[in-house]
Formats: sequence, C-alpha cells, structure tokens
Amino acid sequence: MHCRTLVFFLLLMSLIGRAQTDSLVGRTEIARYQGDKTGAVSLTFDDGIITQFTVARPILDSLDLKATFYVITGKIRGSFGGRFIGRNREDILREAAEQPTDSTNFYERASLIAFTGTSEAVDYHSRAGAAYESGQVREAYRLMDEAYGKLLNGKLRDTDAVVFHDNAVDTTTWRDLRQYQADGHEIASHTVTHPRLAVLDEANLLYELEQSRDDIRRHLGPEATFSAEGPYGTEDERVMRYAHQIYPALRNRMPAPYLAELNRGSREAPGAQDKEYVQWQRGPTDGTSLKTMKSWIDTILAHDNVWLVEVFHGVDDYGWAARPGEELEDYFGYIKEREDHLWIAPFATVTKYIREREATTVSSHLSEGTIKSTLSGQLDHSVYNVPLTFKTYVPEGWQAVTLRIVSDPPSERILTVQTDGSGSYVRYNLLPGTPGWLIRASDR
Ligand SMILES: [Zn+2]
Repeated sequence: MHCRTLVFFLLLMSLIGRAQTDSLVGRTEIARYQGDKTGAVSLTFDDGIITQFTVARPILDSLDLKATFYVITGKIRGSFGGRFIGRNREDILREAAEQPTDSTNFYERASLIAFTGTSEAVDYHSRAGAAYESGQVREAYRLMDEAYGKLLNGKLRDTDAVVFHDNAVDTTTWRDLRQYQADGHEIASHTVTHPRLAVLDEANLLYELEQSRDDIRRHLGPEATFSAEGPYGTEDERVMRYAHQIYPALRNRMPAPYLAELNRGSREAPGAQDKEYVQWQRGPTDGTSLKTMKSWIDTILAHDNVWLVEVFHGVDDYGWAARPGEELEDYFGYIKEREDHLWIAPFATVTKYIREREATTVSSHLSEGTIKSTLSGQLDHSVYNVPLTFKTYVPEGWQAVTLRIVSDPPSERILTVQTDGSGSYVRYNLLPGTPGWLIRASDR
C-alpha cells in the first residue's frame, strides 16, 4: 500500500470508529415544538367582536383550548380612545380646499379623515389605505380629494365621534378580558381604532400603536404587550419598522432566517420550504368550507415544521366573514382530537418557544454514569418564559432516571425511559433559564 493511501485509510478508519462510538447516548436536543409535537396551531381572533367572547370562547374553554384575541382598545371603556394628533383641523381643511392631495399632505389628510365623525369618512380612510397599500397611490390621493371635497361642502358631518370598524356592538370590559387572560387566553393589541396604519402620519401611527400598548399594559399587565396585530394584516414596511420597535412580535410579519412566512394572502402550500419553521396563516372567509378548514389541520400533520396560525373574525351574527358557532364547535373538536400530535397554544407562546429554541444551546455529555447538561443563551427570561421540551438519549438498559435540576434549592423528578428508532430517551420540560441539570439511572 502506498504511504499516502495508508494515511488516508487510517484516517478513514478513525472517522468510522468515531462515528460508531459517537452514538446519540448522552446527547440532548430541544424539540421543535413543545411536547415534541408534530406541528403547532394558534387560534387567533381579530377585532374584539362580542360574539368571539360570548360564543367562541366558551366552546374553546369547554375543550381546554387557549386562543389569542386581538382587541381594539379604543372601544373598551376605561381606555384612551381614538383621536387625531396634529395640527388644527380647520387649517388642514383650508389647505385641502386650495391644494390637491399629494405626497406632502397625504398621510396627514388620511389620518384626519377617519376622525370626522361619519362611517362614510372612515370608509374613505380605509379605501384610500387599501389603494395605497396595493400600489395605487394616485387613486388613494383621488379618494382623499373626493372625501375632503364632501367635507368642505358639508356633505360629510364633521364631529368628534369616533366610528369604529365593523364593531357596532361591544360590551366587553377590561374586567372580562382580565378573566379571559386568567383562564389562559392571550389578549393583545389590534391598535386603538383599527386604522389603515400605512396611511397614517408618524404621530398618529405612534399613537395607535403606543396608546393601545399602554392601555393593555395598565389593564392586563406587561405579558399582554408581547404580540400584536396591525389591522388588515398590513405588511407595509414603514409600519413594520415602527411596530417592531413597540411590540416584540407581530402576527403581520416576523422576519427571521429560520422562519418561512406564508401569510394570509399566500397561495404557497407548506412543504416546499426548507426552513426550520413554517408559519402558515389561514383564515376562513365567507366562502370557506368546514372541510377546507379541516384540511389545514391534516396538512400540518403531514409535515413536521408547520405552525398553523388561524385568523378568525366574525362569529354568529357579528363581524366580517362570520362563522356559525356550531361550525366552530365541530372544527375546534377536530383540532382537539389531534392534540397528541399538535401543540395548540396562543400566538405569543409559540413565538416565544421558537425564539427560545433558536437562541438556546444545550451541551450535554455522559461521564461516569451521569449525563450532565447545561444551557446557554442571551434571551431575557422574564419575558421568554415558555418551558422548552428536551429529549436526552440515555444508555440502553436504563428503565427510569432521576433528573436533578441544579438550582437553589435543587429539585428532582423521576422520568420513565422511552424508546424510538434512535435509542432510549427521556423527555422533559424545563424553563429556558435553567442553568443545568443531571440525569442518572434511578434505582427507585
Ligand atoms: Zn382587524
């Protein structure tokens, strides 16, 4: 044998030898989803529509499912309501009479028009917003000229009343919301008045985002200020730049290298992405059948990385794309029956888990009959407090183990050993702030 061939041969043998001894025993991994489930589901409800709380919530509670409710804070009594922040409205109106809408005044006019007291004016605001966000900027300017023309001619009533989007009836109180939160649901912000954020000027945009957060913090505590949803599922970049500084997570967008975002408008199906996670947003509209909704659940179960984020609006008699309570009961039951394979949790909870897993490194090794594991990561554990699921492979023959957490005071639990195609393992949940733990065969 040639000398160089011999060296290569020896190197190869040593690599093979290492691969054989380098089994999974002593290794610890963090499960992709809590409980080592196949996929995750977050049920989210927008707009704080009364029947979401009176019809859908009791169904969820009867099945012990926890959901997320994005509420419009300005219409809840005891909050700061909607208002226009800026110059004197007479000055703005006078200017509008003389100067057509253009890029220098559009945001200000689109911000003010929503507060001129009629549903028609609010409609002008949202139509201009829709046009603007779909790239029809000229049409958005034209709509403003038309709206201000009507205002100036007295064809739109000019009052201080705030007209809320799609929410004629709402009697939910902060006290009710506190109770729902205590029951395990997430209550979070959907802004103060549900505007088209993309056409607001800076002052009004900040007011909608910050005032809503402040009211939620005051009434529900800081944990309710983690996630939010900007109305109409906006993905406007300018809005996202502001909003991401105010809320740690937005359902609208959450760019991350490990996450594929298939948002509500996307026609792409999960499965073609090679990311660690796929956030797949679906929401029933008027024409969506129950069969289609159930097929979303079947689709997640056919993959191992999909997080289905469902977006609901109306329920029974109120709200956009309203679904009958009976249908929701059937659908939520279908989800619940698959809970062995699905992690069903609020939007903020799943977001935190994913970020914790991505930011945490677990090192583990077996020595003298003990597997010692430690965690490292940079997250703020007062916020990132969702337990991670760990899976540690143990030597063959171990029946049960003692898990000893190195904390003050230390704690211990006994775990049963399970097996899969890769060997024997134990599975357990620990907070991401846990510094370290020991696993050894239990004699109990
Ligand atoms: Zn909405």
